[in-house]
Amino acid sequence: MKDLQHNQGLDSAHTDAVEQAFSFDTIAIRTGHSPTHEAEHSEPLFLTSSFTYGSAEEAAKVFSGEKEGNIYSRFTNPTVRAFEQRLAALEGAERCVATATGMAAILSTAMAFLAAGDHVVCSRAVFGTTVGLFEKYMSKFGVKTTFVDLTDLNQWEHAIQPEKTKLFFCETPSNPLSQVADLEALSTLAHKHDILFVVDNCFCTPALQQPLKFGADLIIHSATKYLDGQGRAMGGAVVGNAKLLEEVFLVTRTLGPSMSPFNAWIFLKGMETLRLRMDAHSASALKLAEWLQSHPAVKQVYYSGLPSHIGHELAKRQQRAFGGIVSFEVKAIEGQDNGRTAAWTVIDATKMLSITGNLGDTKTTITHPATTTHGRLSAEAKAAAGITEGLIRIAVGLEDIEDIKADLARGLDALL
Ligand SMILES: *Cc1c(COP(=O)(O)O)cnc(C)c1O
Repeated sequence: MKDLQHNQGLDSAHTDAVEQAFSFDTIAIRTGHSPTHEAEHSEPLFLTSSFTYGSAEEAAKVFSGEKEGNIYSRFTNPTVRAFEQRLAALEGAERCVATATGMAAILSTAMAFLAAGDHVVCSRAVFGTTVGLFEKYMSKFGVKTTFVDLTDLNQWEHAIQPEKTKLFFCETPSNPLSQVADLEALSTLAHKHDILFVVDNCFCTPALQQPLKFGADLIIHSATKYLDGQGRAMGGAVVGNAKLLEEVFLVTRTLGPSMSPFNAWIFLKGMETLRLRMDAHSASALKLAEWLQSHPAVKQVYYSGLPSHIGHELAKRQQRAFGGIVSFEVKAIEGQDNGRTAAWTVIDATKMLSITGNLGDTKTTITHPATTTHGRLSAEAKAAAGITEGLIRIAVGLEDIEDIKADLARGLDALL
């Protein structure tokens, strides 16, 4: 341990070389922390917007890039850099650029690699706001997007427009149905056509899945979710090789969607327990999925950890565990509507679960995708994405699984 602590203060090239030998949990706890002259044990929080120099000459050298150093916290900040180094190491990547939110990470990636006339292929089953970013805003700048089925490789291939398609974007496992993309096949297809392959790894985090290993070029994170893990702060990140990340960095330092040092400090603390939490979320989610599957009021359960799930084998190949998101469809009540009444009955009968669209928290959350997270989709888009009126999504937290089941049983039993 002594040696390890000693190495934390070394320059980044040396630290990288040393850290390759560390396992995931050690990286999550130690990487990125270089104690200052105060020899503090816990990561310090640098709440400063700018930095000073010993002389005019030194200032000139740092501003021109001749000498390394901080200038302004929109560009770099020591606490944010610690977060970036830790997350990059956890993903097995060369570099990470932190952003203000997950959406800022996607926007910065789009600004860095797309220009008017370019084309994007994106899976339909992505975070709702991601659809809005491409469809409503990137289109204003002449970037067109085709949405395809996450798991249908033919659709991806047919959507490619020679010379124009610059980016593939997907999220796996998908929200809320837990569909699983074949990352290796998608990266092979992308690279055959010189297309950048971007994966939103928010649901798995590097504790469960490392998309770079399967050929992805860039990874997106919403740190707001599991990296924090306790529902406190907004943040995001783009992760990948140094050359691509330099382009993303130039965007964030110029356009300004940079991460706050305070939030970076929260995420540093969150990441220390990332693997433990992800394993606990996954274990409880599997128990919940199995229990739901056996409940007579439930029509279908969507969780890739269940052997009956269509993406189970692929998820097993790509992921260490299956994550914390479980969705299920309740049976519609006889003579009532198409399932909404039954779903709302279950949600409204809960006393402990939080009714909210958020996820990645210690607290279990429950939501009705058709009228909340996916409420803005057209009826056709909902049908294409499998968002039915009877569907409920649970982001399984870290409370006792028996208490979670009991809270859901009240409403489910009432449907019988
Ligand atoms: C929440 C989320 C985002 C957006 O992140 P914000 O931090 O809310 O901006 C992107 N992708 C996925 C999969 C998400 O769950």
